[in-house]
Amino acid sequence: MLPPECETALQQLDAFRRGELPPDDMQLMRGHLEACRRCFSFKRHEEAFLDRLVATAKHCSCPEELRATIYRMIAKESRDN
Ligand SMILES: [Zn+2]
Repeated sequence: MLPPECETALQQLDAFRRGELPPDDMQLMRGHLEACRRCFSFKRHEEAFLDRLVATAKHCSCPEELRATIYRMIAKESRDN
């Protein structure tokens, strides 16, 4: 069971990474990540994982057909919304 401040921190981690939190919360998150080893290492592991994912995706040549399918799905989704 995590302390409540860690639960909040982990819930807001994505928004924090994208810089989407209100300035006060950004400040709070920064402070918490500096003080809390657990959340800090969680963030670092997550970032390392995302970096690897991006690096892998860059080296992977996507077949034309799959690319077209993905574009169609995205186009459909933006039409539906
Ligand atoms: Zn924490």
